[in-house]
Amino acid sequence: MAEEEGEEYLFKIVVIGDSAVGKSNLLSRFARDEFDHNSKATIGVEFQTQVVEIDGKEIKAQVWDTAGQERFRAVTSAYYRGAVGALIVYDISRKTTFESIKRWLEELNTHCDTTVARMLVGNKCDLEDIRDVSVEEGKSLAEEEGLFFMETSALNSTNVKTAFEIVIREIYNNIS
Ligand code: GDP
Ligand code: MG
Repeated sequence: MAEEEGEEYLFKIVVIGDSAVGKSNLLSRFARDEFDHNSKATIGVEFQTQVVEIDGKEIKAQVWDTAGQERFRAVTSAYYRGAVGALIVYDISRKTTFESIKRWLEELNTHCDTTVARMLVGNKCDLEDIRDVSVEEGKSLAEEEGLFFMETSALNSTNVKTAFEIVIREIYNNIS
């Protein structure tokens, strides 16, 4: 048991998806329990670290944010390097962001191997009245592609912690 005490887990998780789907807000909700209404305010940090406990083990989740790179359709390979988990995010109120998911998966697959724990995230589920992508569409794409699936709201916190924790647990299960 003594040697186990020194064990350290650091998991790099990347968040990808089209511009303005809520990636930065999912991260700030998860890491700091904050929401930012101003979309122009890009958080100027590369990643944020949040400690999560799984099976009594302290795990550091190092979650990376694109900081706007995705607007130029060129997220660098450094962004993906060493990632063991990924949240691939669309906005349930904008179909085009859902249609981009396949492209994001291709990009992820070119940079990371298939063992990366992957979660499809339909964000902004608080916008039910202007929903443009059904829950079923999300679910079936996730099944097709072998991804976990969850709808979230960074605005009202729905499922944000759960989405990250499922990915973290999957990574943990893969290595232990
Ligand atoms: P990013 O470009 O993917 O990082 O997206 P941002 O996190 O900057 O969010 C883009 C816009 O969507 C901002 O105006 C946010 O306030 C808004 N937003 C983010 N998450 C949610 C959400 O869960 N619900 C709603 N209604 N708006 C959100
Ligand atoms: Mg952002």
